[in-house]
Amino acid sequence: ANPASSNFLKGLIEADLASGKYAKRTDSLAHPLPPVITRFPPEPNGYLHIGHAKAICLNFSLARDYNGRCHMRFDDTNPTKEEQEYVDTILDAVKWLGFNWAHEGLAGPVEHLYYASDYFDKFYAMAEYLISAGHAYVDSQSADDMAKNRGNFGEPGKNSPFRDRPVAESLDLFRRMKAGEFKDGEHIVRAKIDMASPNMNMRDPAIYRIRHAHHHRTGDAWCIYPMYDYAHPIEDAIENVSHSFCTLEFQDHRPFYEWVLERLAEGGFFRKPLPQQTEFARLNLTYAITSKRKLLQLVEEKIVDGWDDPRMPTIVGLRRRGYTPESIQLFCDRIGVSKADSWIDMGTLEGALRDDLDAKAPRGVAVLRPLKLIIDNFPDDLTVECTAPVHPHHPERGHRTFPITKELWIEEEDFMEVPSKGYFRLFPGNKVRLRYGYVVECTGCDKDESGRVIAVHCSYFPDSKSGTEGSANYKVKGNIHWVSSSHALEAEVRMYDRLFADAMPDSGGKDFKQALNPSSKEVITAYLEQGMKHAMPDEKFQFERHGYFVADRVDSKAGKPVFNRVVTLKDSWGK
Ligand code: ATP
Ligand code: MG
Ligand code: MG
Repeated sequence: ANPASSNFLKGLIEADLASGKYAKRTDSLAHPLPPVITRFPPEPNGYLHIGHAKAICLNFSLARDYNGRCHMRFDDTNPTKEEQEYVDTILDAVKWLGFNWAHEGLAGPVEHLYYASDYFDKFYAMAEYLISAGHAYVDSQSADDMAKNRGNFGEPGKNSPFRDRPVAESLDLFRRMKAGEFKDGEHIVRAKIDMASPNMNMRDPAIYRIRHAHHHRTGDAWCIYPMYDYAHPIEDAIENVSHSFCTLEFQDHRPFYEWVLERLAEGGFFRKPLPQQTEFARLNLTYAITSKRKLLQLVEEKIVDGWDDPRMPTIVGLRRRGYTPESIQLFCDRIGVSKADSWIDMGTLEGALRDDLDAKAPRGVAVLRPLKLIIDNFPDDLTVECTAPVHPHHPERGHRTFPITKELWIEEEDFMEVPSKGYFRLFPGNKVRLRYGYVVECTGCDKDESGRVIAVHCSYFPDSKSGTEGSANYKVKGNIHWVSSSHALEAEVRMYDRLFADAMPDSGGKDFKQALNPSSKEVITAYLEQGMKHAMPDEKFQFERHGYFVADRVDSKAGKPVFNRVVTLKDSWGK
């Protein structure tokens, strides 16, 4: 853990542990419950993104750190299409991030995987109770009247003419709503609180509505569905959640969260202590958008190549880009958790990735913008083996070898016919070291009719090979990488960069499509050190002098990897 990061939720949990607030709880079988139970409750209506990763890390890590447990719960009370696909990718994403909802129970591990739709009977029974106890009623106003009568900020609303209808009448209507006797919107169940409350969320909020829609898990069993603000506190209480963390926009919903649980505790449905909602600042990341609707637009309009496009801030996109679970956890740890909204720079996310990959990624040589280098005094059929460490700081990881031959590929930018000031690489008359190989002196170049350089010539010093005694006699400033043109692995490399050129593509009423970075993806053919031929999908390398690259997990084939640029070695944005 990073000592600099702060997380105010830890203080809150520690205070609750010290006071013993949740210490003596038991479940329905009288078994003791851990004093910290959190949950991650996505709606299965889209792909998870980096913002969700913050919520996942926060909930699962706090549970782990305080010997509690975190429930994986689908908040699937809202019937929508294709939800099973989302359920599957969400479970995958959470697992991949390194978290697990199986926790040790009395008789072995227990899967704490829940679906709010499994509680439909309970939501219903509790709503019947609220109506019976006079805490809720069926409203039959039109949607327009209901909106009008809700009032505005600073101005009280008006009671519905149906607010004081007899309990028996509300109950009968509610049962008939359930039985399918009415059309969508004909009636709605509302909590009876206060139409003059300064908090709009307390002006008789809706708790149940009619919706003739097919649900991906309950099919057509229901035609009424609970509202999110009513269902959520009940889900938490059913699962004995102690700490219910949500983003700041739910702060004004907290009084209703508490109202629901208090009323139901009075009714004997729940025992105290009740779950406690606490809000934290959502993640806002520069150079990214995290609105589900806009991410969908990027996919549907084919601005990106699908949900797992390596430029997408989705978990599947980050994974394909080459992010590791550890780098995302490190990022979440570094940004901490606070109660004030703020922006986190994309550089922080990329920095966490560099810090994680630097220690892990084996090194390799890749020439991305190839230019031919011919060593004129190198025998035609000679091949000399060169040796390089797999990782410069981890000699125990061994060495890699690759051959040097007469014709090589070097980077275009490592030669200048007329050098600019301070240029130490190849230019006629200058000496450089071919990394892990020999020192060469540039003798000239060949050009095509248009004057473009098509090959560079040099001669080598046979006694200058790296690792031999003679090499010490050569002091050169330039040190360039290369691959043998007869042994190189030709590979497709996708040079990804940030999807947006604007730090805040999604704010101030801007059209985020105007903020796209026109060079966020460039596909090139590069020449790689031959050993990378057998790179496994998802395997990451540092291409020396270039950055980190990953063998694409979708398009790589055995013996024919395709690489994605994960991130450059240094942050060059905004510099
Ligand atoms: P929707 O607009 O569909 O409600 P959502 O982003 O809120 O989208 P959920 O599936 O409801 O999606 O989110 C699951 C959990 O992830 C919630 O608890 C929410 O607070 C959290 N979460 C979502 N976006 C962020 C974010 N940017 N930063 C931190 N937490 C987030
Ligand atoms: Mg949602
Ligand atoms: Mg939501």
